[in-house]
Amino acid sequence: MTTYSSFHDRSLTDRENFWRDEARLIDWEAPFASVLDYSRPPFAKWFVGGRTNLCHNAVDRHLAGRADQPALIYISTETDQQAQYTYAELHDEVNCVAAMLTAHGVGRGDRVLIYMPMIVEAVFAMLACARIGAIHSVVFGGFAAASLATRIDDAKPAMMITADAGMRSGKVIAYKPLVDEALRIARHPPRKVILVNRGLDASLVMNAGRDVDYAALRREHAGARVPCEWLESSEPSYILFTSGTTGQPKGVQRDTGGYAVALASSMRRIFCLQPGETMFCTSDIGWVVGHSYIVYGPLINGSPTILYEGLPIRPDAGIWWKIVETHQVRTMFSSPTATRVLKKQDVSFMRRHDLSSLRYLFLAGEPLDEPTARWAADALGVAIVDNYWQTETGWPILAAQLGVEDTPRKFGSPSFPVYGYDVKLVDGATGRDVAVGEKGVLTIAPPLPPGCMTTVWGNDERFVSTYFSTIPGRQLYSTFDWATRDADGYYFVLGRTDDVINVAGHRIGTREIEEAVQAHPGIAEVAVVGIHDEVKGQVPIAFAVAKDPTRVANAAQADSMRREVLQTVDRELGAIARPSTVHFVTLLPKTRSGKLLRRSIQALAEARDPGDLTTIEDPGALDQIRAALGASG
Ligand code: AMP
Repeated sequence: MTTYSSFHDRSLTDRENFWRDEARLIDWEAPFASVLDYSRPPFAKWFVGGRTNLCHNAVDRHLAGRADQPALIYISTETDQQAQYTYAELHDEVNCVAAMLTAHGVGRGDRVLIYMPMIVEAVFAMLACARIGAIHSVVFGGFAAASLATRIDDAKPAMMITADAGMRSGKVIAYKPLVDEALRIARHPPRKVILVNRGLDASLVMNAGRDVDYAALRREHAGARVPCEWLESSEPSYILFTSGTTGQPKGVQRDTGGYAVALASSMRRIFCLQPGETMFCTSDIGWVVGHSYIVYGPLINGSPTILYEGLPIRPDAGIWWKIVETHQVRTMFSSPTATRVLKKQDVSFMRRHDLSSLRYLFLAGEPLDEPTARWAADALGVAIVDNYWQTETGWPILAAQLGVEDTPRKFGSPSFPVYGYDVKLVDGATGRDVAVGEKGVLTIAPPLPPGCMTTVWGNDERFVSTYFSTIPGRQLYSTFDWATRDADGYYFVLGRTDDVINVAGHRIGTREIEEAVQAHPGIAEVAVVGIHDEVKGQVPIAFAVAKDPTRVANAAQADSMRREVLQTVDRELGAIARPSTVHFVTLLPKTRSGKLLRRSIQALAEARDPGDLTTIEDPGALDQIRAALGASG
């Protein structure tokens, strides 16, 4: 019998044979000549010379045998729409979008920026890009015009696909004005914009010559067939931007063959899903979890996948359980934040549904606290699988691998390193391995396994300097997370080592929020820190210095300035990054060399000891922080 530990050991000690076996899970148009080319560390090329296509593996491959079985199940509790596509119907729709793209001259290696709500056309668009070898870059629909423009300029897309509007909690959120604004300020706007008109925004204005209507194109290209473009395994499949410590987001670049193999393998060994069994992942296509486990993973596996637009508690807190019952969901994937939201609801919403099909609830994106994990395990009676990973890796780094061995879970721990990952906990200052129970930086000894980022889009140097150059004396990939390991080998993730915060599972750089706050002309400087929040894990709060102190001299003035600042953040970055409050001070705590003491501010805001303050320039600044917190608390 294979044990987890023998499986993991083999993945590292007999790396090439291990991955050669896993690579059989997908179709190759031409076989690879070698499993791994690691001649230029830390850049790894997997399945060199092999030719494949993500769309072929996710769609076409299943036409023989599954053509009439469900592939994509759409449910929107915002618009009260439902739709179901078999593999054959999905194939039709994807071909049609592929034809729209090629008709506009989009081809292999071109970028297509997808800025869409949770609608089926978003999935068709992603798969159509993969089909023709175009590189998609999906930007989360919650990002505002300025952030969208930054991402456009980095990706330099040939085409953009968007929609008139999204909907949240019954409220229409117009996308088009924001897209127009982003294209106005972008230096490299695409030539064409395909727009899906959901009929949600009556004031929609099309830009003649640039904007084209999806429905009209769909009619024009109905029934079209576009062959899959066979890509060399290392050719990029997509770019996905993620936040870091600088204000400039990084484009995580993913390959084709390695990603397909990693996902196919993870569906069996981690997510325990057989072809034909249904997956319900509640993430958004704008995040990595949505890419891997709403779109590509389940479809590559031949499993129906559910695309859900809406909240977990609307029309009532039973909606997700109703979906599980109706569609016989076997594997569900959600976030700790959503679980904490549901935990506050009456458990009868869950009990009134037959959940006997459900076997697993996977949770990722942020630390899963023990009470939440315990509640979910008790309420659902299924395995709760905490899994830890990042946009960069594309699939889990730490997780119980129940398809390999049914190892017991410990609440609060995402269990063990996933096969293929050579995880090392190291001392950030010296680079030495830390002892059992000791806190260290969670790193991965390269080569990174298949599926992980291959570089930063357009910037190899940044890939090396950001991820592989922070641990003294060793070329290790840093996750920028702290962790410990207990005597039984279980890992516990403790939080970020950098100035990145995690709000409801979404990674946001505090620097990005600070830049957005400073876009308000009345703000001289600002410090943003993340503080603990019962539901969202963390929320950002800001301490700002007004250029003209008389503008925030009394409570009413401060209130009005605060509103303006929050609106600025909404406009610059998006509401997901909006600080829960803005405190006005006249001085920020800094070291004598001018570095913001964010950790001390954060400690004070969480009522902890601010730590070593010997380097502080003016201790009075901390008193101001205390006073501001005291006044509001
Ligand atoms: P993102 O790339 O936006 O998905 O964010 C990745 C970050 O989220 C990681 O570096 C961790 O800080 C955090 N994270 C993701 N999953 C977990 C987990 N299961 N437990 C603890 N932290 C997590």
